[in-house]
Amino acid sequence: MIPIHPRIERLQPYVAGERPEAGTRAIKLNQNESPYPTSPSVREALRRLGPELLREYPDALCGRLREALSAVHGIPASRIVCGNGSSELITLLFKTFLREGDAVAIADPTFGLYETTADTFGVRTVRVPADDSFRIDPMRLAEAGPQAVVIANPNAPTGLHLEAANIERLLRSYNGLVVVDEAYIDFAPEGVSVLKLVETYDHLLVLRTFSKAYALCGARIGFAAANERLVRAMLKARETFSVGAVAQLAAEAALADPDYVRLTVSRIAQTRDRFASGLTGLGWSVVPSVANFVLAAPPQDGPSAKELYERLLAERIYVRYFDAPRLSDKLRISIGTDGDMEALLGVLRRFGGNVC
Ligand SMILES: *Cc1c(COP(=O)(O)O)cnc(C)c1O
Repeated sequence: MIPIHPRIERLQPYVAGERPEAGTRAIKLNQNESPYPTSPSVREALRRLGPELLREYPDALCGRLREALSAVHGIPASRIVCGNGSSELITLLFKTFLREGDAVAIADPTFGLYETTADTFGVRTVRVPADDSFRIDPMRLAEAGPQAVVIANPNAPTGLHLEAANIERLLRSYNGLVVVDEAYIDFAPEGVSVLKLVETYDHLLVLRTFSKAYALCGARIGFAAANERLVRAMLKARETFSVGAVAQLAAEAALADPDYVRLTVSRIAQTRDRFASGLTGLGWSVVPSVANFVLAAPPQDGPSAKELYERLLAERIYVRYFDAPRLSDKLRISIGTDGDMEALLGVLRRFGGNVC
């Protein structure tokens, strides 16, 4: 028998939201995907896509995309590395900067992939509990003296955000690697992103993705920004051709149409706020999210979150349930179209027995 690496044998794999069977009608609100198609400029680029693009290896360094990102975000291309979704960049940063036995501090709750990736590399995870309203003090993440801290801002699955100034306070007092995952930053207000601070702090690494606001999660593309020394090391350690030509093309086209992203983001935010009031009206408590999802607890005198999750699944409405302390009484619901959210509220009203 081939021995499995003990770390992998023990590993609790990351569990993604379920996918409805192909061809079935469903309302899918469990992976924070955009309910809107990606920009028409992406569709146009894909229409022009010829087999020549697939015959050749892609540009390993994503040169054109990095230049475009540099122009949009005002940081040099030499400070940017692209990846096969930010998931690959999370793996890459552990591979490049952390050793077996090191510690990484994360908030609890946060995105589950950080701990899974740490486990894969034999890195210890220090979970720092958020307060009763799920707020995080970034300074507390540094208290155990970890080699790195990873902060999702806005955080998942809460949708709460920290001001950049809060993270900058951590950057001033803590010398380990500070990773800020800005997967949902396009939904957040001004003054939250620390992307530009990679010009100031040598130990800051910011992650971005095209998966959420840009509606390109199927293409698999994201990027990391950091000091040049860190970027050079990541470029050395990365999978050479991890970002395919189609993903690069799609991301370049999406970046060229910022108005479209602004429009869909504001539409999603409006739907979110309307949906959150609808839930509150049904007696739910809703964490005040700035992102494209909400974390919410059903009223205590009705069916439990777990039961609702299962009953919604039977109605082909997919939401996320986490069987974890402080989350097991809640559902995380991605924001779909107005129609999706109205349908969901209708079903919840029926389940709650308030109205028939
Ligand atoms: C969705 C998400 C990502 C994005 O992952 P990709 O690999 O880029 O699709 C990263 N971080 C968080 C916190 C997320 O929720």
